[in-house]
Amino acid sequence: MIATADIQIRPIATSRISTIDFNNLPFGKHFADHMLVADYINGEWTNLSIEPYEKLFLAPSNATLHYGQAIFEGLKAYKNTQADDVFVFRPDENFQRFNASAYRMCMPAVPEEIFIGGLFELLKLDRAWVPTQEGSSLYIRPFMFATDELIGVRPSDTYKFMIFTSPVGKYYSTPVRVKVEDQYTRASSGGTGTAKCAGNYAGSLHPTQLAYKQGFQQLLWTDAKEHRFIEESGTMNVMFVIDNVLVTAPTGGTILDGITRKSVLEVARDWGMKVEERRIAIEELIEAAQNGKLQEAFGTGTAATIANIIEIGYKEQVYRLPEIENRTFAPKILAELEDLRRGKKVDTKNWVVKL
Ligand SMILES: *Cc1c(COP(=O)(O)O)cnc(C)c1O
Repeated sequence: MIATADIQIRPIATSRISTIDFNNLPFGKHFADHMLVADYINGEWTNLSIEPYEKLFLAPSNATLHYGQAIFEGLKAYKNTQADDVFVFRPDENFQRFNASAYRMCMPAVPEEIFIGGLFELLKLDRAWVPTQEGSSLYIRPFMFATDELIGVRPSDTYKFMIFTSPVGKYYSTPVRVKVEDQYTRASSGGTGTAKCAGNYAGSLHPTQLAYKQGFQQLLWTDAKEHRFIEESGTMNVMFVIDNVLVTAPTGGTILDGITRKSVLEVARDWGMKVEERRIAIEELIEAAQNGKLQEAFGTGTAATIANIIEIGYKEQVYRLPEIENRTFAPKILAELEDLRRGKKVDTKNWVVKL
């Protein structure tokens, strides 16, 4: 069995950190000095190393490039400005979900020593890259892909697991306008909707592009069968406050089991808020918007945390939701999660892991 202690560390000669403007961070464009790499060969994990972030060398016949056996995760590290402590939010959840995605895609499980142990070694080395600026954090991207060189549709025998990180600012700076998608689908029953696999995102690009052209920033996906029930918004889970009840679609099959989603639901329940995980028909949503009962709508996900939705477009009509200043739940839950993530609040749930 491979252990975290087996990691070969080859540090960068000169850090690139001085080239980064931390007060002006775009999302996902800058990458920290190092990356973690592990290879799966002959049925076991080997070659565990941390190296300078650099380009990969791949064969044209690399199986991933043709058949898409690739999965990923997304989590964040936060810095507490007072004590200079670094915290990671619920990494065990990402670890478990990663291996669930691996199972669905016929890929080997990654051991905890590599996923969690390797991640913390990487963060120790690139600790200075965790931003302290308000709303900023270090986005962490673990991923795995097939490395067999072969033209043929079958699971690869070899894989590469990697983690790199990216200092990021806010994902959305303004509330978003979303379009109800009633033609294309993100995921269907029996498909790969619950796996964080590369192909799910490739398939969503074209319908999202069409929505951009119509002036929207994101889609509200509906179910594949009837295009009637709300599923997710872009690459986020989606929630509504209707008549003081927090409502979201149930996971199971086509909806990604978001860690932000489950955290928001748990805290809301702790606060005594009424929470319903049930199917939401688009007619219900439109009716609630028309009669003033739709108080809030927002996406939840690691990248954006909480992304407020200001307008919903459906069949040529645009429904305007209450202004953000008049919302209570989303700002409150955002502040709560931010405080927890930065270690500013007592973590009674053991959600944050200190580096
Ligand atoms: C990653 C992702 C989410 C959000 O999950 P978090 O664990 O909260 O980051 C939601 N939907 C899709 C499709 C995703 O890929």
